[in-house]
Amino acid sequence: MATTSSPQIPGTLCAVPGEDASSTALTQRGVEIGALVAEYLATAGAAALRVLATVVNETPIEGTAFDRVEALGAFEYLKSAASARQADLACAHEDAVVATRKSAGVREKNPSWGIGAEVALVLRQPRCSGVEFLHLSRVISRDLPLTRAAVGDDTITFHQAEIVARGVRHLKKENQRLIEELLFTDCPLCFSGGDALLRESIHQWALLLEPELEEDSEQKARAGRYLHVYRFDAYRMRIDGLVPVEYGAAILQVLAREEGRGQAAGDERTRGQIAADYFLTSMTGFTDHENMRVRLNLVMTEGTFFTGEGEPALIPGFGYISADRSRKLLLGTWQNPEDIEVVRLYTAPGAGDLVAMDSKARVISGKLKWFVMLRDQHCRTPGCNGLIREIDHVVQAARGGPSSVENLDGRCRSCNATKESPGWVEETVPGVRHALRVTTSSGQMYESVAPRLPGLVEQLLWRLNADRAVHPVAKDHDKA
Ligand SMILES: [Zn+2]
Repeated sequence: MATTSSPQIPGTLCAVPGEDASSTALTQRGVEIGALVAEYLATAGAAALRVLATVVNETPIEGTAFDRVEALGAFEYLKSAASARQADLACAHEDAVVATRKSAGVREKNPSWGIGAEVALVLRQPRCSGVEFLHLSRVISRDLPLTRAAVGDDTITFHQAEIVARGVRHLKKENQRLIEELLFTDCPLCFSGGDALLRESIHQWALLLEPELEEDSEQKARAGRYLHVYRFDAYRMRIDGLVPVEYGAAILQVLAREEGRGQAAGDERTRGQIAADYFLTSMTGFTDHENMRVRLNLVMTEGTFFTGEGEPALIPGFGYISADRSRKLLLGTWQNPEDIEVVRLYTAPGAGDLVAMDSKARVISGKLKWFVMLRDQHCRTPGCNGLIREIDHVVQAARGGPSSVENLDGRCRSCNATKESPGWVEETVPGVRHALRVTTSSGQMYESVAPRLPGLVEQLLWRLNADRAVHPVAKDHDKA
C-alpha cells in the first residue's frame, strides 16, 4: 500500500531552512552519505532498518533498460547483504543465549534448544527452515570467512554462500577453509558456472580431502530416508521424499518397466500417468482408481448442502473445494448411507469461531481431539502450517492448564517440543476466533488465530463490495 509521505532519515536529508539538503549538495559539502546512513543504522537499530526497507520499496522505477537491469543486480546485492547480516545476527543471538543458559545451568545438554524456532518465527517460516537457517548461518559466519566476505563485497550471492556451507558443513574446519581457498582461487569460474557445477566442485574436493565421509554420507542417506505426502493445492497432492540411491534406482527401474509395458500395449495414458497409477496401486492395492473408498471430513454450510448455495466446503487439513464438488462427493456415498456420519457444527455469529459440535450418528471417540483438529486445521505456530500430530495444552498441564477446548490447540511434533524452551510462554488471549499468544525466550510476541470455517464468505464478499463502492477500483484505461 502506498504511503502518503516517505520516512526521512534523521540528520541527513531533513531540510534546514535556507540550505540545500539534497544528497548532491551534502556530498559537495564533504558529507559522506554512506557514513551518515551507517551512523543512523548503528544508533537507531531495527527501527532504522524498517525505515530503509520502506525507502527501498519506494525507489523510483525509471531510467534506461541498462539502468533497470543494473538496479535488479543492485537489489540482489542488497538482498544478499541483508541475508548475510541476518546470519551474523542469528549467530550472535545464539552465542548470547547459550552463554546465559550455561552460566545459569539451564538446558546444559542442549543450550541452543528453541533458538532455531525463534529464528523461524521472526523470519515467518516453518520451524525446520529456521533451524536450517541457523545451522547454515553458523557455518557461513563463523567457519567460512572468505565466503562471508565475498557476499559482503558482492562477489557471490547469499544463495551461493548457502551452497558452499551445505557442501562443507560436515568437513573438518581446516578442510572447510582449504575448499574455500580453492573456490576463491578459481573464482569466478566456480561461481559463474551455475549451482550444479558449484556443488560438484565442492563435492569433488570433499571426497579428495575426507574420503571416509562418503561412507558416513551413505549411512546418513539411509538413516535420513523419508517420504512426505502433502497438499499441493485443492486438487492435487505432492509426494516428496529422499531415499538412498539404491532405493531410487530400484523405483526408477520398476517405473520404467511399467511405462514401457503400458506403451507397448497401446495404453493411451502418458508415461507419467502410468507411473502415478502404478504407484497408487502398489501402495494402496486400489485397482479401480475411479471408485476408491477414502475417509474424508467435509465441512459445509447447511445452505451448500440443502439448497445448492455456492459457498465452498472445507476438507480440514487439505483446503477448500467448490460447493458443486462437495455435493458430488456426498452424492457418491448415498448408495452406502452407513458410510456417512453427519456432525453438526456450531460457529459463533460473525467471526466463525467453532464453538460446539454435536454428533448425530454415533459417539465419536476422542471427540475433544477431533474438535480441536477441526478448529485449528494446521499446526498453530505462526508460519508453520504443519500437519497436526499432537493436541497441545496452550498452558501446560504441569502449570495448571486445563484440558478444555479453550486451552487445547493442534501442533506438529517439533513445535510442541519447542515450547518447552526456557523462557518460552504461551497463553490464550481474547480474539475474533480462538487465539493464543506465543512469547519467545527473547520476549518477542506472536499471535495465532484459528482459521475461518465455512460460513463467512458471504459476509467477506459483502465487505469487499462495500469497500469498492467507497474506493472504486481503477479501470485499466484509468491507470494508463
Ligand atoms: Zn508446527
